Amino acid sequence: MEKKNIKDYDLEELKQEIENLGEKKFRAEQIFKWLYQEKVKSFDEMTNISLDLREKLKENYTICNFNILKKQESKDGTIKYLFDVLDGNAIETVLMSYHHGYSICVSSQIGCKMGCKFCASTGIEFSRNLSSGEIVEQILAVEQDTGIRISNVVFMGIGEPLDNYDNVINAIHIINNQKGLNIGARHISISTSGLIPKIYKLAEENIPCTLSISLHATTNEKRSEMMPVNNTYPIEELIKACKEYLEQTNRRISFEYALAKDNNDNIEDAKRLVKLLKGMLCHVNLIPINKIENGKFKKSSNENIIRFRDYLNEHGIVATIRRELGSDIDAACGQLRRKNSHLKMKS
Ligand code: SF4
Repeated sequence: MEKKNIKDYDLEELKQEIENLGEKKFRAEQIFKWLYQEKVKSFDEMTNISLDLREKLKENYTICNFNILKKQESKDGTIKYLFDVLDGNAIETVLMSYHHGYSICVSSQIGCKMGCKFCASTGIEFSRNLSSGEIVEQILAVEQDTGIRISNVVFMGIGEPLDNYDNVINAIHIINNQKGLNIGARHISISTSGLIPKIYKLAEENIPCTLSISLHATTNEKRSEMMPVNNTYPIEELIKACKEYLEQTNRRISFEYALAKDNNDNIEDAKRLVKLLKGMLCHVNLIPINKIENGKFKKSSNENIIRFRDYLNEHGIVATIRRELGSDIDAACGQLRRKNSHLKMKS
């Protein structure tokens, strides 16, 4: 029988698992604490768990400790990891340092199906979803490696999180649980390319995390060119879904807008963006696009970026420019993995 990853279970599910082993449910809370608060790497370190139960755990579960295949550190404190996920695949995770604490950008899939043209992950074939435990392990592995406490989690690494909906939501239950990683839901953000049915579903969840929409263009023509997902879920329907999400949750939405030179960075684009978002409880995050090797899109000039931001702010849309982190390392998603494709041992 194949062993299961013990980190794939949220606390309620783990209680059920432990009960199935013939043990009392409260043991699950102890195990949860060892995993996420003490951050142990083996069942043997769970010293208040009986030897008998530890043996049962070893027989039935793995504890899923990722190996670091590669690590790049930037002068600004950003650290990019390439993890061996123990089945021959590799994923990326980025740790960023801000004045308010440490933020981690986690991957949700191995590869991505969405094919956004500006993304360094494009060209990395989709192979599978990450399990909840593999999502959570990225945080644990970075905390174990650095000794720091992570305070913010963003689902903005490789993969479309809402395309791996159940595992991402389950991972959030573990990350958010006070007996788990205890990171507040308001410090967790999910970024989507715009999978509309899943946005409606997320609105129903009782998780006050931040929804972040990768918008990047203001006409269907331009957006479809940058993001093929727009052919299925066009802008007007996406904005409608966002308005309903706001209506239901009253939680501010963040719109990501990667500025690409001579593509979506002129004042006409800014005007259309104001028209689209007018009256919504939202924030626009302007991202100076990372130049991708052989990529079609180039970075906007600083002048254009500032002009774009000022136009939005002057017309009632709160907009900020994202600080470029890790510019001296391969910090755009997919870049490290692309350069080290030989490290992907299987696929
Ligand atoms: S930007 Fe995100 S959704 Fe788009 S291809 Fe890259 S990883 Fe996938």
